[in-house]
Amino acid sequence: MLTDSQPGHIDQIKQTNAGVVYRLIDRFGPISRIELSRLAQLAPASITKIVREMLEAHLVQETEFQDPGSRGRPAVGLILDTIAWHFLAARIHQGKLTLALRDLSSKLVLEEQVALETASSEPLLSRIIQQIDAFFIRHQKKLERLTAIAITLPGIVDTRAGVVHRMPWYDVTDMALGDALEQRTGLPVYIQHDIPAWTLAESLFGDAQEAKDVIQVVIDDNVGAGIITHGQLLHRGSSALVEIGHTQVDPWGGACYCGNHGCLETVASITSLLALTQQRLQAMPGSTLHHQPLTIESLCDAALTGDSLARDVITGVGGHIGRTLALMVNIFAPQKILIGSPLNRAADILYPAMLTAIRQQALPAYSQSLTLGPTRYHDAGTMPAAALVKDAMYSGTLLVKLLQG
Ligand SMILES: [Zn+2]
Repeated sequence: MLTDSQPGHIDQIKQTNAGVVYRLIDRFGPISRIELSRLAQLAPASITKIVREMLEAHLVQETEFQDPGSRGRPAVGLILDTIAWHFLAARIHQGKLTLALRDLSSKLVLEEQVALETASSEPLLSRIIQQIDAFFIRHQKKLERLTAIAITLPGIVDTRAGVVHRMPWYDVTDMALGDALEQRTGLPVYIQHDIPAWTLAESLFGDAQEAKDVIQVVIDDNVGAGIITHGQLLHRGSSALVEIGHTQVDPWGGACYCGNHGCLETVASITSLLALTQQRLQAMPGSTLHHQPLTIESLCDAALTGDSLARDVITGVGGHIGRTLALMVNIFAPQKILIGSPLNRAADILYPAMLTAIRQQALPAYSQSLTLGPTRYHDAGTMPAAALVKDAMYSGTLLVKLLQG
């Protein structure tokens, strides 16, 4: 077995090393070859070889810079060469498809939103392909060399196989989106659930860049989480969504669409929160919420101005999420917890409730130094898809394809 796997093993090492070097140039460029060799812990000869290949492929370029350590002549440093490379970053949401062209630095070149009706006589797969074709044709003149397609969406996704098993809003059964797009365009295709892809975006571009262990909880129409452990997205090769939303928190609670009762999502999703508030309003004639339409914004604002029902509802959800987080804290010992939610508007009430539950229920050694804060990105947009491409460059998988031309 060992001899069989030997060539693959060498390719794997080459891929990993190239990814590490690319990442270091992205992070520290302009950087000298000597410094690269030190940081990557690779021999100077290996660095020279990897860098030469990247230079020939126009993925990095040389530039003169003043090395802060020396007062002599400017040194030759390496920086990424990203402008001549584009990729498509897409996001499918209820009734719409967002299509963005970005360069390899993730910078936005152009973005469009097109309708993707939830009900149609034509299969979703062929409609997505038509929209992507049309997008490329419309912007033919602006296209640089295309490297990849990355798509984020809600649903049950097999990332490795590129198959979307099920989606909310759309009638989908085992849609082979990755294969179909790869055959159509000849490009590598990356597909991921939108929550873990968002977590990856926070870790690569957002406020969690310095943290190696991060838990991100999304409280919106659905409740779910993404986890970065030791700098890597947990279950990155498969369905990376952490399904905290379907953990039972109330055995006598209401029915959930997953088939169980009293799931976290049935008490903490935005829809359930508004329904709960509506229900409790009848017994609270003094609440300021009677004088305005009930929305997540009005609920948050009422809580911030001291309305006791609104405060109670938000403190309640903070406690539920906090108790679930306490379990996760004891497993992953994160430096950072990020909350992606419209409830961040009432962070002053929500966060203390969460932290109290975490401090009460998790080990002090695991919880005392963590910070809890909002995600940088609010509406996830196409940055999560851009993060999939960045991640594929850093891991070396996409990078090696580009090196091979
Ligand atoms: Zn459920």
